[in-house]
Amino acid sequence: MKINVLTLFPEMFTAVTGSILGRACEKGIITFNFINIRDFSNDKHKKVDDYPFGGGPGMVMMADPIFGALNSIDARGKKILYMSPRGNILDQTKIQQLAEEEELTILCGHYEGVDQRVLDHFDMEEVSIGDYILTGGELPAMVLIDTVARLIPGVLAGEDSATEESIYSGLLEYPQYTKPRSYEGMDVPEILVGGNHKLIYLWKFEQSLRLTREMRPDLFEEFVKNSKKLTKDEHKVLEKVLK
Ligand code: SAH
Repeated sequence: MKINVLTLFPEMFTAVTGSILGRACEKGIITFNFINIRDFSNDKHKKVDDYPFGGGPGMVMMADPIFGALNSIDARGKKILYMSPRGNILDQTKIQQLAEEEELTILCGHYEGVDQRVLDHFDMEEVSIGDYILTGGELPAMVLIDTVARLIPGVLAGEDSATEESIYSGLLEYPQYTKPRSYEGMDVPEILVGGNHKLIYLWKFEQSLRLTREMRPDLFEEFVKNSKKLTKDEHKVLEKVLK
């Protein structure tokens, strides 16, 4: 997947290009193209923002530098996302859709946002990471990149890592334990060290169900509605939890 990022602060993105995604870049699974919007300012002071027409607080990012940056990569007609608190909130369904794309272009806003003509002309999709306001679109873009990238085959080490996660399966993840078996008098649940894979699986499933019912009744209700595809054993566990 190719990811173009338009930003005033390209240096912030070393946070995602290191570590796991760094390896994906080396392997050629993901290629990044960071474009500094300021490089496309035609102003002698490299200005990129100005006062809003009609008044109001703060500054607005001007259309011209962003048009220049987008035209430099022939972006018209491509999938372009604008990170924005006005957008639909990013969820796993959306992330799975985005992970299918061959190329994504992401615009990070700053100040009060960007001139509306940019969004209209390039037919951008606004995407929010939650109902709160950040000072810039860079952190939201990194959240989006990280979540999308981990679904691309070859990015994570284990094949199942991405699909066993909370939310992905419609349930929250069961509790996890690692060595030592006994720590400060607290023991790992016996079943997990017993070696019976079927019982372990059903234990994890039950824990996921109970946790989801407690923490996210909305997800739990949805899961129960779609529970027709469960195996006989899974059904028994679900019935036990519903009792
Ligand atoms: N005045 C705007 C907010 C500007 S915040 C409004 O009220 O809608 C500055 C920039 O940060 C935005 O242009 C956007 O790119 C980014 N941003 C802030 N909060 C965000 C969120 N919850 N999700 C995605 N991007 C966000």
